[in-house]
This record gives sequence, C-alpha cells and structure tokens, in this order.
Amino acid sequence: MATALKRVEDLVEAGGTHLVATVNPEFVMRARSDREFARVLESADLCLPDGSGVVWAARRQGCAMPGPVTGVDLIPPLAALCATRGWRVFLLGAAPGVAAELASRLAAEHPGLSVAHHAGSAEPSADEETMALVAARRPHVLLVAFGAPKQELWIDRARARLRVPVAIGVGGAFDYLTGRVPRAPEWMRRAGMEWAFRLVRQPWRAGRMAVLPAYAYRVIRGQ
Ligand code: UDP
Repeated sequence: MATALKRVEDLVEAGGTHLVATVNPEFVMRARSDREFARVLESADLCLPDGSGVVWAARRQGCAMPGPVTGVDLIPPLAALCATRGWRVFLLGAAPGVAAELASRLAAEHPGLSVAHHAGSAEPSADEETMALVAARRPHVLLVAFGAPKQELWIDRARARLRVPVAIGVGGAFDYLTGRVPRAPEWMRRAGMEWAFRLVRQPWRAGRMAVLPAYAYRVIRGQ
C-alpha cells in the first residue's frame, strides 16, 4: 500500500494524464477476448493487484508482490494524502447518492479536503455533461466507479480532454465505503476467500465469477 500510494503521488506530481487500474481476475479473463479493453489496460500507467487472485498469479510467475492493493483499501489513505498535499478529489459513478455520501464522509474526516462528486453515467451520451463537470473542478485525482470495463473505457475516452493527473477505476469501492455492500471479514480476505463471501452475499455475481476456475487453470498451466 505504501508503495502504491507513493507511485500515485509521483504520477500526480508528474502532471499530464495517467490511468490507474485495479486489476482482478475478471479483468484478466476479459482482456483475453476484448481487444479494446486489453489495449486500454496495457496503456495504464499503474496496475494495482485488486485481490489475492492476481497476487497469486504474479507470484507464480516470479514477480515479487507483497500483497493486494484494492481500490477500496486505497481510497482512505489516498484521501488523507490528498488532504495533506492540498489536492482536489472527484468521485464519479455508482448509484445516485452514493458518491455524494462518500464525498461528505471524506470531507468530514479531512477538513479542508476538496472533494466533488457526480453519479453520472458511463453512457457516451452522458460524456459531454460529465466531462464538463469534472473539467470545471480540475481534480488532481479522479476516482471512477462505473464497474469494469466501462470505467477504464470511460477514462480512456476522457483522457485527452480532461487532463486529470490521475484517474483510477475503483469498481464497487464507493458501495463498500458507504456500507451499502458488506466486505468479507479480514480473515477471509487474507485467506484469499473474498470471492466465496461475495458469491454468497451477491449471488447475481455468479455469472461474472464463472471465469475464476478458467483463470486458476490458466495460471497453473502458465498460460
Ligand atoms: N455502476 C455505475 N454505472 C454503470 C454500472 C455500474 O455507476 O453503468 C456502478 C455500480 O453502482 C457500482 C460500481 O459501478 O457502484 C461497480 O460495480 P461492480 O459490481 O461492477 O464493481 P466490483 O464490485 O466488481 O468492483
């Protein structure tokens, strides 16, 4: 986490526009068949391991990876960093009211933190309005919660126009941080069993999670 925060800090300081992706096994499997998503992920300036499945695969391939850095775990220390550095934050996405609630919480926790929000939509027809709202606030860090791959494709579309130093796709992080969706207990996360908790609490995810056995098979086979 400390390394990830330092990398994000360096990217903000560098200016320009950077994409940060929080990659999980569903991303990896989708990118195998979705060329556009694969292109956008390859263009990311930083890919964080969103969960133990990616850490496991990386280690099997000889990459020393100390542990996962999920979007939901990154946001609180990142908000603290932004407060310290005087950097503006923008929360985009999730259901109406969710980003607004998280923005109020973060502002209450970090007096002086500039944090804007907009639920918006990942539909290209909403781009004009959303990009104008974001551009008006000139955030240093933009957190986009449209779910993958929509959020990464949205950041890719917006990149040239917005000039936001760091845009991060954070999936369902706003829902977790506002308590709308429960997180697996710490011991389950450490044991790499968060997927089982999610399957029980959010059974509609079963379709998306069906790729996990194929992912594990390919990791073991080194494919
Ligand atoms: N979401 C959204 N617009 C969409 C689809 C999803 O704002 O068109 C939001 C949804 O409300 C949720 C977040 O995207 O807050 C991510 O959902 P998902 O379950 O895909 O994320 P994960 O839990 O896999 O990170």
